[in-house]
Amino acid sequence: MIKRLNRLDLVILGPIMNLHEYQAKTILSNFDVPIQRGMVTDKINEVEDVAKSLNHETGTEWFVVKAQIHAGGRGKGGGVKVAKSIDELKNFSSDILGMMLKTPQTPKEGKLVQKILIAEDVYYPGESDPEEYYFSVLLNRNTSKYMIMYSRQGGMDIEKVAEETPDLIFYEEIDPLLGLMPNQLRTIAFNLGLTGQAFKNMLSFVSKLYNAFIKSDASLLEINPVLKTSDNKILAVDAKMVLDDNSLVRHKNYEALRDLSEENPVETEAKEVGLNYVDLDGNIGCMVNGAGLAMATMDLIKQSGGEPANFLDVGGTADAKRVEVAFNLILRDPKVKAVLVNIFGGIVRCDRVANGIVDAYKNMGDKIKVPIIVRLQGTNAEQAKVIIDNAGLKIYSAVEFSEVAQKIKEVLA
Ligand code: GDP
Ligand code: MN
Repeated sequence: MIKRLNRLDLVILGPIMNLHEYQAKTILSNFDVPIQRGMVTDKINEVEDVAKSLNHETGTEWFVVKAQIHAGGRGKGGGVKVAKSIDELKNFSSDILGMMLKTPQTPKEGKLVQKILIAEDVYYPGESDPEEYYFSVLLNRNTSKYMIMYSRQGGMDIEKVAEETPDLIFYEEIDPLLGLMPNQLRTIAFNLGLTGQAFKNMLSFVSKLYNAFIKSDASLLEINPVLKTSDNKILAVDAKMVLDDNSLVRHKNYEALRDLSEENPVETEAKEVGLNYVDLDGNIGCMVNGAGLAMATMDLIKQSGGEPANFLDVGGTADAKRVEVAFNLILRDPKVKAVLVNIFGGIVRCDRVANGIVDAYKNMGDKIKVPIIVRLQGTNAEQAKVIIDNAGLKIYSAVEFSEVAQKIKEVLA
């Protein structure tokens, strides 16, 4: 969602789908990106078998157990632990599975851990210090190019690195038509201070990482840390992947990766009825038709001293049924102090929308406890205002946006 994905002001807008680390690693591995190998489970009595089969495949004796939730910073919250034996692994696993994990990125009460990833330990303790790097691949909307962001300051909070030591973060911009060029790969490996086999392995790692990002239609791929092992392998130890919802038609198999228990239930419900709803933090609920008008309306609400509580695009058909569903979704949010309906009637005539609003309001009876402000512009706007004003309901009609702004100020005063 918009507010949670703010990566150095590169805001991702529009519908997205978050993946768990284990799902992202499976996708990466399918594109040949080297990863720390592991297996996921949701049953504590499977942990031993999982560990033994990993042990068999990788020769691992130490394991790492990692909580699978849609939030980062798990290490800090006790959601990532290194175990030096299968017994210790079983103990850590039972601590983590089912816990409410609190990290700087979860809600206050934390998030329930429903699955754990058991992975091989790839840090080979006792040998020379392993190096951790930061990598992300995303779209830079300002330049219409893809961008690889990377740093030697891996394994820590990148926002903090960006704030305190911005010169330790490097950027490589990629023309989507040309793709990632060989000289760019060498620049990256060089800036990370690599030589010899590690340098070569990094070229291959980054080229596969970029390929995975493009082919999976991801909106964001963030690997923190990428590890250089003491024997010079380059591996993805963590993986955060965000897919573009609109591209899922091209990847039917990715739809099954959606974890509804991690998604906002109101957003899920909206999607089911074909409404585009995004939950935000403010106090003014908005019902708008068209994404452009939605963005403009959000700006105008802010200028009037309010904060948008959501982004809801009812699309082309603002009939009573849809308006009612939309009201129900918006009013589910207890932060909402007023609802603003700002609809431009072009093909949908304003009088029909007005009748829809009045019918929906009547159907909902006393469920509506906050003022509704309606501004309808376009075809038959005058008739629409008459319909609203004569309905005898607590709906305020406005023609100009200045009237809306005034009303918002009154409500919030
Ligand atoms: P995050 O805290 O949610 O970002 O989870 P990460 O997957 O990045 O793990 C947190 C930290 O645990 C990493 O930065 C590593 O330092 C450490 N870690 C992860 N895997 C291993 C491992 O196999 N062995 C050791 N010793 N540490 C690990
Ligand atoms: Mn991480």
